Amino acid sequence: MAEYLKRGATAQAKADADRKVRDIVEATLADIEARGDAAVRDLSIKFDGWDRESYVLTAQEKQDCLDQLSGQDLKDIEFAQTQVRNFAQIQRASMQDVEVETLPGVVLGHRNIPLNSAGCYVPGGKYPLLASAHMSVITAKVAGVPRVITCAPPFQGKPAPAIVAAQVMAGADEIYALGGIQAVGAMALGTETISPVDILVGPGNAFVAEAKRQLYGRVGIDLFAGPTETLVIADEIGCDGELAATDLLGQAEHGPDSPAVLLTTSRALAEETMREVERLLTILPTADYARKAWETYGEVIVAEDDAEMVRIADEIASEHVQVMTRDPDYFLKHMTNYGALFLGARTNVSYGDKVIGTNHTLPTKKAARYTGGLWVGKFIKTCTYQRVLTDEASAMIGEYCSRLCALEGFAGHGEQANIRVRRYGGRDVPY
Ligand code: NAD
Repeated sequence: MAEYLKRGATAQAKADADRKVRDIVEATLADIEARGDAAVRDLSIKFDGWDRESYVLTAQEKQDCLDQLSGQDLKDIEFAQTQVRNFAQIQRASMQDVEVETLPGVVLGHRNIPLNSAGCYVPGGKYPLLASAHMSVITAKVAGVPRVITCAPPFQGKPAPAIVAAQVMAGADEIYALGGIQAVGAMALGTETISPVDILVGPGNAFVAEAKRQLYGRVGIDLFAGPTETLVIADEIGCDGELAATDLLGQAEHGPDSPAVLLTTSRALAEETMREVERLLTILPTADYARKAWETYGEVIVAEDDAEMVRIADEIASEHVQVMTRDPDYFLKHMTNYGALFLGARTNVSYGDKVIGTNHTLPTKKAARYTGGLWVGKFIKTCTYQRVLTDEASAMIGEYCSRLCALEGFAGHGEQANIRVRRYGGRDVPY
């Protein structure tokens, strides 16, 4: 039986926090729907202290942002974007259209059709998260979406130059300096100055994630991608306390609501990691967020063996799972619920977040039970079609269809089949 050396917030506390966010989002979206641009402007002033006549960035403003970055900054962004684009192109190539004759004269197929427009949210309240621009804008473009628009909040009172540079370099068609609920609400519902999109994508804080959830149905969404979560699975062979603590705090620094969990078979490693967390919290410049996250949501679990660690990890269904054990491939083979896996001590979540090429927009709050992360497939509709090539095939399928319609009591459906059996088969159907 697994033993908890440290437990995070209770389910009740988490539900209370969720309810507060849900109510704020509901009222805010209703306001945007009723008052359009006027509401967006009021909300931007209220939540971000940010007032403009128009929130779309001009060509000159975009150039000014690019000019503020060094040559090395631009090269680094370009390197990261190349990795993300390469992997997205490989994934796109794996999505083939299909056309096949399943029975003599019966042809079924599907086409992969890119959506017409996408709205990409790039978070920027606490940190200017420029990497999110690569993850969503580039992926949408590789998928073939013609209109890709993007929003990011002001950072320290103005558009963050690094985010804007990444949005421009990723190929965004329209860039808005808007954050939070007002950004996703405007992109999804449309205003006098922003045309609505077909899908909202990208990560964000609890307000952004909840706004996307409430807007689902009016628009598509990629997935529930809220405050970052991390799970470190470790043993004494694959890891040590300093490495485990560094990787836990590296993600806890995202914000005070970011859970970081250690799962290990070694009590000694668990205790060493807890000591190392305390030591690192005295020197980490972002310790304010990380300490709050660790104290409120951090967990340390000691399990019996690898099989129990798989069972617990699948139950947690964490966004990120780092595996630093003697046999990381065991977890690749057996785990089923995770946003992304980071196998072995040579890699880590930060590589995936910033540069290595896999997408960092990943499912949180157990959404990993039913979805993976953002990828080209989320911007593509797989739509089927069919045709019947011969009279014989139409009449043969028609007879089956007629009988099945009779079983369901669907007379109109049945007649759609019967008329074809009569026309193409030259016979009556006795049903
Ligand atoms: P953000 O851009 O998501 O949110 C900032 C906006 O929140 C502000 O512009 C403001 O309008 C709004 N806001 C703030 N307080 C509010 C309030 N009380 N009521 C209504 N609106 C309010 O930036 P952030 O806050 O720094 O959060 C980024 C989040 O993205 C973090 O939680 C991080 O963990 C998460 N993230 C998730 C993933 C993923 O794939 N799941 C990836 C990267 C980042």
